[in-house]
Amino acid sequence: MATSKPPNNNGKRKCPNCDQPTVPKFRPFCSARCSQLDLANWFNEDYSVPVVETDDFDEDDYPDEER
Ligand SMILES: [Zn+2]
Repeated sequence: MATSKPPNNNGKRKCPNCDQPTVPKFRPFCSARCSQLDLANWFNEDYSVPVVETDDFDEDDYPDEER
């Protein structure tokens, strides 16, 4: 018996958030919502990681959180 795998990477990809088929407009996600969600996740993780500060950064944008 031959195992038939579902076409996974056969042209179409799945949304990393909800496993729905990707919509070209929102690649690699299935919807604007999922892309936003992922971005939010990204941001959250980014915030917990120490960021290298650049001199170009405007301190005014960050009311004293770190300094
Ligand atoms: Zn999705």
